[in-house]
Amino acid sequence: MTDAAERREQLKQVYLEASACTRCALAETRTTVVFGAGNADADLMFVGEAPGANEDKQGLPFVGQAGRLLDRLLAEIGLERGDVFIANVLKCRPPGNRDPRPQEIEACRDYLHRQVELIEPRVICTLGNFSTKLLRGDPTGISRLHGQAEVHVLGQRAVRLFPIYHPAAALYTPSMLETLRADFARLPELLATDPPPQPEVMEPVPEIEPEPEPAPEVAEAAPPGEPAEPEPSPDQLGLF
Ligand code: URA
Repeated sequence: MTDAAERREQLKQVYLEASACTRCALAETRTTVVFGAGNADADLMFVGEAPGANEDKQGLPFVGQAGRLLDRLLAEIGLERGDVFIANVLKCRPPGNRDPRPQEIEACRDYLHRQVELIEPRVICTLGNFSTKLLRGDPTGISRLHGQAEVHVLGQRAVRLFPIYHPAAALYTPSMLETLRADFARLPELLATDPPPQPEVMEPVPEIEPEPEPAPEVAEAAPPGEPAEPEPSPDQLGLF
């Protein structure tokens, strides 16, 4: 990856694509695509489940009660939202906050992978079962895995995954909140750990240049009535 400006530009392109997404039926019921928000250069990324009603209205992740708890836990370790990037497995709200369905997760996973590839976090905190299972590629549940960091190769990069309970699950269960707090307290040490060794990047096979096409005799006109690209809303994107 190159510099921070380039990274932000590429992330905006993914955002533009996602904000017009119709890859699954959630496109018909959502108000806003909740792409994710935060620092495009973050060392720490959080991945939740899916937007709820508040997120769907505002276009930002974790703006309800669970988000306020997340902010509090971040503050307890000296961090704020501007230091991290927050995304979800699904970018659109499932109606009535039902669980994400396998075909929705599949349709949406490419956006999350591109976010991870561009942001290049050192640590990804998966919040709850859905993001943990997706990024680990394994059905083991969060109660067996929380608080244990593991190196996984996602795309081309090795990253530390750190599964923790979803803040929404901890809201009304004091013992789970204490476990979540204790897991959070390990984050500074994890972020200070050397990044995991990276896998060797395979050299791309050189492409054979195709014969150049003969130039057309008449220059083609641009198709009439092409829709203009939507402008990204900086509030919605929330990039720092
Ligand atoms: N829960 C999530 O998983 N994500 C949000 O954005 C809000 C609540």
